[in-house]
Amino acid sequence: MRAPHPAKLFLKLLAPRLPQMLSTLRNFVIVESPSLEKSAADRCNRIVSAEWRKRDVRVERIPQRHRGDHLRITWWPAKSRPSGQLLVLGHYDTVYETGTLAKTSFRIAGGKVYGPGTFDMKAGIVQAVFALDALQQSAEPLRKRIVFLWTSDEEIGSDSSRKLIETEARSSDAVFVLEPSFGPRGLLKTARKGVGEAEIIVHGRASHAGLAPERGVNAIHELARQIARIQEWKDLPSGVTLNAGLIEGGTRSNVIPERARAVLDLRALRIADMQRLERRLHALRPTLPGVRLEIRGGFNRAPLERKMSATLFQRAQSLAAQMGLSLGECTVGGGSDGNLTAACGIPTLDGLGAVGDGAHSPREHVIVKTMPARAALLAALLQSS
Ligand SMILES: [Zn+2]
Repeated sequence: MRAPHPAKLFLKLLAPRLPQMLSTLRNFVIVESPSLEKSAADRCNRIVSAEWRKRDVRVERIPQRHRGDHLRITWWPAKSRPSGQLLVLGHYDTVYETGTLAKTSFRIAGGKVYGPGTFDMKAGIVQAVFALDALQQSAEPLRKRIVFLWTSDEEIGSDSSRKLIETEARSSDAVFVLEPSFGPRGLLKTARKGVGEAEIIVHGRASHAGLAPERGVNAIHELARQIARIQEWKDLPSGVTLNAGLIEGGTRSNVIPERARAVLDLRALRIADMQRLERRLHALRPTLPGVRLEIRGGFNRAPLERKMSATLFQRAQSLAAQMGLSLGECTVGGGSDGNLTAACGIPTLDGLGAVGDGAHSPREHVIVKTMPARAALLAALLQSS
């Protein structure tokens, strides 16, 4: 008789554990963890750490001054010598400030589990905990050491965790990101746009609009021209977008304004497009005589190009098929820490976390019955890597 497929075996182990998965999720969600409130985030970190400490793993808190501490968990079976490293990546911070839970509580209804941070992405952390349990029960030896990294500031740009993420990624052979999947079918995110922010600051010359118009240089007029120009760089089919999301300048209508400023959101699907966009922005020149332009910023996260996920996705698909599930993929406009690891040249598969909807909103939820299979998928990916 042929041995059962590993993913199916993991699912068999994990399906009966759904009640524990839900109670662990509850423990993680009822301690709020806003990115910007260190003491609250640290409280959540302690709860998440405690859950991992119940297992035979090394748990390290990586102290931060202004943000919640990051959490690194390492596991490899002592009997074998690891032949490499796999990184499982995610964040425990949420976009919700303390007190949100009083308005949108943790609750289970109609096959969905609701609560701030359930979908993005505390259920992902829960699935990883139980994937580890399944791996620890499996007779099949693991080839690689596994590092689980849970950071505290993904929702605000990962300033304090970026170096750590990149260092761990560089010592890894593959990265599995437990950010939420997409849509009701739980599509994995095999490509993500790179994301940036830039500022155009125009310095003109102030003057009286009525008495000495010839002596002024209007910074707002110049900015309007620049914005009209950069709008033409947008290329939707290629995934290049620019959005002037904030604009300011001037004091009153009879003063020729000496300063104006626009803040732009930048996105691109390909690294080459990102670089071209940055070059073009910094090459902008004034159109009105007497104006000085100042350009700041650029891309913060490079695109996660599909080629960085392709091989891992194929494997995920065939492992999912072992459980009778068809796994799809998608491209999304938003970035994650998966963009950082892919930019290090490490194969990265993102969107492996929860199936649900409503991230960053009071409707945030996870589809309960999907949790064991997603945990099993992760276990099977880790074991076969
Ligand atoms: Zn997230």
